[in-house]
Amino acid sequence: MGSKITRNHRENLIAQKGKVIWLTGLSGSGKTTIAQALEVKLHNDLGFLTYVLDGDVLRSGLNFDLNMSLIGRSENIRRAAHVAALFADAGVVVICAFISPYKSARDTVRRIMEVPFFEVYVKCPIEECKSRDPKGLYAKCDAGDITGFTGIDAPYEEPANSELVVETDVEDVNSCVDKIIELIK
Ligand code: ADP
Repeated sequence: MGSKITRNHRENLIAQKGKVIWLTGLSGSGKTTIAQALEVKLHNDLGFLTYVLDGDVLRSGLNFDLNMSLIGRSENIRRAAHVAALFADAGVVVICAFISPYKSARDTVRRIMEVPFFEVYVKCPIEECKSRDPKGLYAKCDAGDITGFTGIDAPYEEPANSELVVETDVEDVNSCVDKIIELIK
């Protein structure tokens, strides 16, 4: 038997609607930076209950058993989507930062969601991502220490139907955050 308390009840209690913002893009494109800045603005300035799900964090816990193969990456995304959907069902505004390079996996994410869902393509040329290299991963690729890295020797399938595209090589973090806030209003 289903629970007597529904998402609607929970949302009414905390006076907000659960939703999922899904940031996809190359490593170094700015997903984590934008997710954190967006979280601060939504929480501090606009008074929303938020939660960030970050690919790196999930890979060290819930998804520690998954490798970086197509199957491992797709399962990583599928599990992340289910966790995000549960948080949003609790009424939380969930911000997800995952490279999510495969269209099929992103399509799965969209199918899983029964809450308002916004895919945001965090777009940045690979040359710029390489020169930023915030985690030193591109350098490790160059040195041959990492293989199967998105954008280098593994594909990034560009989204064609995102709700929003932000271009982090030409827009600053604040501008990207403001566009996302405008989108989810
Ligand atoms: P990702 O999570 O996509 O791997 P990060 O957020 O960890 O990327 O790193 C992005 C880097 O790019 C950071 O050093 C950040 O300061 C820089 N950066 C420059 N401009 C932007 C922007 N408009 N949006 C997000 N990050 C930016």
